[in-house]
Amino acid sequence: VPDFTWWEVANMWALSAFAAVWVFALGANLGSFLNVVVYRLPRGMPLALSVSRCPKCANPIAVRDNIPIISWLRLRGRCRACGQGISPRYPLVEAAVGGLLVLLFYVELHSGGANLPTRTPTGSGLVWLLTLPAWDLIALTCIHFALLYVLLGIALMQADRRAVPWKLTIFAACVGVAGAPVMVVPLTTHWPAILADSTLLQDFATCVMGLAAGVAWGVLHLGLRRASNLAPSSRRVQVRRAVLVALALVGMYLGWQAVTVVAVAAAGLRGIAVMLSPIWPPVVRVPSSAYVAVATLAQLVSWRWQTTIPYWPGPSSPLLLLAVIVAAATVVLALRSRPVAGDSSIAALSRR
Ligand SMILES: [Zn+2]
Repeated sequence: VPDFTWWEVANMWALSAFAAVWVFALGANLGSFLNVVVYRLPRGMPLALSVSRCPKCANPIAVRDNIPIISWLRLRGRCRACGQGISPRYPLVEAAVGGLLVLLFYVELHSGGANLPTRTPTGSGLVWLLTLPAWDLIALTCIHFALLYVLLGIALMQADRRAVPWKLTIFAACVGVAGAPVMVVPLTTHWPAILADSTLLQDFATCVMGLAAGVAWGVLHLGLRRASNLAPSSRRVQVRRAVLVALALVGMYLGWQAVTVVAVAAAGLRGIAVMLSPIWPPVVRVPSSAYVAVATLAQLVSWRWQTTIPYWPGPSSPLLLLAVIVAAATVVLALRSRPVAGDSSIAALSRR
């Protein structure tokens, strides 16, 4: 154990604090971009090459008035041009993404991957990170951050009652496929003979199995909602598909076992919210995909700890469990596509 003088310790603390501020500022700027994406993408507006404008008066926002969090506080939540209020959601999203990046930086990268299952933690600390950068862990942290970032975007679009654009879904899925080789969590130990020799094929198989489980859980979530509401409008159905997109992406990025834990946890969180709604009514306005985002963050933080719980879905889970989930979703899908006389007449009435 090396002996550090107080001066060296103070220096390391200063370096750590500087890193935290820098990472937070980076995250807040990415959060600012997420606000732009959530506003423009569902409206079919271009993302880049145009200045930010006030959503109320459409006047361009100057660079000095577009600093994440700080500008909103300095202008007391009002547009400089028209004086109308700017939603506190913008700085809150910026702060949330900043906080998310700091959390992931410490929990996953700074710790040397101490939160990840099946991966031996490498070194830890900022000095280790700067001197012996573990590129696979850096890539993995970026991929996990990208997942949480997209999930937050999906939840915000659902809160705005906008359907998740296909462009976003396909882009996020492509990142998931491209990132498959660095998603170092080997999710099963018994691969069939054709996959036994190729880690690349195993990585893509993990990705495909995760996608299947995510879509299946999404279908089960939607089936549950459908049962509680007989005749939702087609627009509401489209908006609700956000939960399916969210779970499909979690499956692709984290594997079928993790998305199983996330789907059950998200349903549990929603159940708690429904029970709390008589005491605090606004809780029903929380979109279903937001619970998936929260459960995914909890999953990433507690992943290694979960592997110590007996029978918890992990690398040694039997593939039979995955087959049961997919079969259950297929049954729900078959029942849903069969027209029910009472259901369709109610739907026809509500359309008039
Ligand atoms: Zn304005």
